[in-house]
Amino acid sequence: MMQETFFVQVLLPFPLRTAFTYRVPIHLVNSIAFGKRVVVPFGRNKLYAGLVTSISTQAPEQVQIKYVVDVIDQYPIITNEQLALWQWIADYYLCTLGEVMAAALPSAFKLAGESQVRLHSDFSGDLSDLSPDEILIVEALATHEQMTLTDIAKIFNFAKVFLIINSLVARDIVDVVDEVKEVYKPKTETQIFLSEDLANDENKLLERIDLLSANKKSEKQFNLLLAFISLIREQQLNYHSGLKKSDLIKKANVSSAVLRGMIKNKILLEKNIEKSRLIDFDSIQKTEEIKLSPVQEKKLAEIKTQFETFDTVLLHGITGSGKTEIYIKMIDEVLSQGKQVLYLLPEIALTSQIINRLRKFFGHKVGVYHSRFNEYERVEIWNRVLHFGEEEDDKYSLILGARSSLLLPYHNLGLIIVDEEHDASYKQTDPAPRYQARDSSIILAQIHHAKVLLGTATPSLESYYNVKQNKFGLVELKERFADSKLPEIWIENLVEARKQKKMQGQFSQFLIDAITEALQKKEQIILFQNRRGYAVRLFCNTCQSMPTCVYCDVTLTYHKYANILKCHYCGYAIDVPAICPSCHSPNIEMKGFGTEKIEETLATIFPEATVERMDMDTTRTKNSYQRIINNFETHKTDILVGTQMVTKGLDFDRVSVVGIMEADTLMSYPDFRSFERAFQLMSQVSGRAGRKDIPGKVIIQTYQPWNPALSYVVSNNFNEMYCNQIEERKNYHYPPVYRLIKITLKHTDLEKVNAAAVELQAEFNKHFEGFYLGPEFPLVPRIQNYYLKDFWLKLPKTATLNRKKQQLKEIIDNFNVYSVNKSVRIVVNVDY
Ligand code: ADP
Ligand code: ZN
Ligand code: ZN
Repeated sequence: MMQETFFVQVLLPFPLRTAFTYRVPIHLVNSIAFGKRVVVPFGRNKLYAGLVTSISTQAPEQVQIKYVVDVIDQYPIITNEQLALWQWIADYYLCTLGEVMAAALPSAFKLAGESQVRLHSDFSGDLSDLSPDEILIVEALATHEQMTLTDIAKIFNFAKVFLIINSLVARDIVDVVDEVKEVYKPKTETQIFLSEDLANDENKLLERIDLLSANKKSEKQFNLLLAFISLIREQQLNYHSGLKKSDLIKKANVSSAVLRGMIKNKILLEKNIEKSRLIDFDSIQKTEEIKLSPVQEKKLAEIKTQFETFDTVLLHGITGSGKTEIYIKMIDEVLSQGKQVLYLLPEIALTSQIINRLRKFFGHKVGVYHSRFNEYERVEIWNRVLHFGEEEDDKYSLILGARSSLLLPYHNLGLIIVDEEHDASYKQTDPAPRYQARDSSIILAQIHHAKVLLGTATPSLESYYNVKQNKFGLVELKERFADSKLPEIWIENLVEARKQKKMQGQFSQFLIDAITEALQKKEQIILFQNRRGYAVRLFCNTCQSMPTCVYCDVTLTYHKYANILKCHYCGYAIDVPAICPSCHSPNIEMKGFGTEKIEETLATIFPEATVERMDMDTTRTKNSYQRIINNFETHKTDILVGTQMVTKGLDFDRVSVVGIMEADTLMSYPDFRSFERAFQLMSQVSGRAGRKDIPGKVIIQTYQPWNPALSYVVSNNFNEMYCNQIEERKNYHYPPVYRLIKITLKHTDLEKVNAAAVELQAEFNKHFEGFYLGPEFPLVPRIQNYYLKDFWLKLPKTATLNRKKQQLKEIIDNFNVYSVNKSVRIVVNVDY
């Protein structure tokens, strides 16, 4: 029988619209399969790793078809369902499948010619298990430190370089890096255990301790054993558990000689433990132990009923109503059907607070997937999700993650929860794919015949509109758990307060009094200001100008701690000038204020209070965010000052006062969503006040107390806010009533941007006459030396919508190929 020829479509990691076809050589026919990575040539003599997306026996029309060089994986690394979602994202958000793949794959999977390879920090140097080819590579890396895959392939002329590297990566001998990454955790660790007989019998253990304590000579051993026991208690482990050697020695404060002595005496044992990079947790509470309140119970039942009609249900529950408890019950039910659950959270809300709450009930089933994790942790989660159910193992059946966890290889998803569904961070802005994770989750659920539960205290207009259009179900939960009351909200008119000289710095006397009272009662305070830094800008009273960034058209922000003026778009910074840079007048002063300034004022008004600040400047390192939250949770801090970060999903017991320092900056931002966002932010931050037995008070300071956004916050009237805003969106053709697509032109040469804009405008006039705005310069017309110009396409949601999007795609594709201005980049953002 004649051997049939197979062809595969291979998806490469480039922003190109199509996959490429390759011929499969006979010796690879048996190993090739959908979802495996293959090595293929592309361009001139370059090799890349790509994903097989389909296989056929039909020869394509092209004449010259190259061969697949090799197959990398033993098993497929993606699923069909996953590819279906990727494809939808590429089509809907007008980007390429390659871009979606690049966002989805951990970089350890993305072997490409340019990938940098280096020796792994854990590699012992032992060459005995390596093949001759592998040894050559390791030796080359030992002298070169870092090489690209292409370089390695060139030097050794190995067609197999991808496979060899892949296998070296899997064994922790080399590392592949896209960018500078953190130091990895070692894969094995030395642990210390109690000897069997002591671990089995507490009496024996106590006897031993007695014995050691009786003798002055064995004092150090005694200390070590006590340290062992107290670490076991602290970590809620048992006597059969092991402890990390270095932790134990540190805790006991003894030398390792002491430890060696005790190992020799058979009191302790030492073992090398193969460790998962992800820490395991045991659940410590059963979900049945959660007693829902009668209202919560009723709402849970309503959600289930709604799911009979709708695939997506919006749970609109006020802050503190116990939405998480309801989620837990839902999750439990779906997990027990043997299905996977995805719990999406806004990036910033991935605090240990919510992780711990879920781990308490679901233990090792919880897998956390996060962009701040290192590559190994990401690959491990990926593989677990991919092989879910194969070994009757429910590890990581519940994935908790930000946006990108939507792109994992699920194959039996039962439920997606989108917590804080209104949060803007669900939308990716840069780079492509510019997808909205909340909206995309609905498609993912469709693919799996799963359900989506959207939860929030302040629904997005988009989701609520879908409720009104009868596309989503709705369940409303309007009371807080355990009779805890919503806070009282006060508006403080700063114009009046200033006139009457009732201000100290940025604080009205009213707010100061409230803080004083709370501090006296040992309660806590949260202060919110939507700007970081010290003062907003340095203002020249002579020429009325302010120092601006050289690369971006924005004013610089003063940071007192570093004593610099800094650009918040690109990080450019200068020393604070003593005179105005434009007119050299010494008559300059600081105007406005940010979080840093508030922190400083607090120190003078409340010198006894402990204050901490949470914003981008104080949370740059990996654990700083967590530390600040923990300090506040454990009441080491009295007052927490911060930007948006303090508004999100946090649950504290002793916060009685929330102050919004200057509501005006929120309400006057020129964007069609600013009213909605201001309402959401203020309602969310207000929701942090008053829980359980402590009544809350929210004080909103503003120069425009008549602004309607405030009245909706005060009356907690989402419905009125919705009606008012949806009317505006309808009138001005904005989402959710219309589809909005933002098209941005980008180039370092202003002339080119303008020329490209004229060219596109002509095309837009042909196809979208009356449906677009622009071209116009954005509020910040230059960022990092790139000039920007925007078009806004506002398309009605009618049958022609998809055709219009298709036309847009064609216009841009043509521009990119034929235009004299094609060096101008076009960025498309669907559902901006
Ligand atoms: P939301 O997310 O709706 O703002 P949470 O889920 O954070 O509200 O609940 C607010 C507080 O009330 C939390 O401390 C939570 O543990 C508690 N809580 C809510 N429902 C229950 C319940 N049924 N049993 C015990 N505690 C509950
Ligand atoms: Zn000046
Ligand atoms: Zn800048």
